[in-house]
Amino acid sequence: MRVLDTSALLNWPPEKINGGCCASSQQQEIAQLSDSKFMLLETLDIQWIDPSKEMKAEARRCAMQTGDLAGLSIVDLDVLSLALSTRGATLYTDDYRLQNIARAFDITFESVVVKTSTKQWSWHMKCEGCRATSKVPQDFDTTRKNNTIECEICGSQMKMKRQS
Ligand SMILES: [Zn+2]
Repeated sequence: MRVLDTSALLNWPPEKINGGCCASSQQQEIAQLSDSKFMLLETLDIQWIDPSKEMKAEARRCAMQTGDLAGLSIVDLDVLSLALSTRGATLYTDDYRLQNIARAFDITFESVVVKTSTKQWSWHMKCEGCRATSKVPQDFDTTRKNNTIECEICGSQMKMKRQS
């Protein structure tokens, strides 16, 4: 099973898209981007799946665990939930966050047009004052933009930073 993200639907020729599996919410996303593309996709052999609540919750949980949730859209999460719930699925995406999550949870993935990222990254907290670093707290809300915690050493703000 091939799970295709929206960049695949936009960039690939019909013969490559045929037989792919996509989230229903991607249909709306495409419709907003291009009428003609939407109509073309209607004629192709695509399995449109509406992920269940449980599948979506699992996708959020995984994204939260790797710290990638903040940058993902509802549609991204739907695509991720399809890849997570389908055994042996290959996820086609250029989104580095989705690739990062896929790698962490053993989902096979391939790029659509961009080169596949090969580096696993993680997140940590970095103090803006004394530059101290610490682990991202379990209960840290990554969905809040610019969320910070207080540095235990100097009391300045600590922000989440990417660490490769
Ligand atoms: Zn500090």
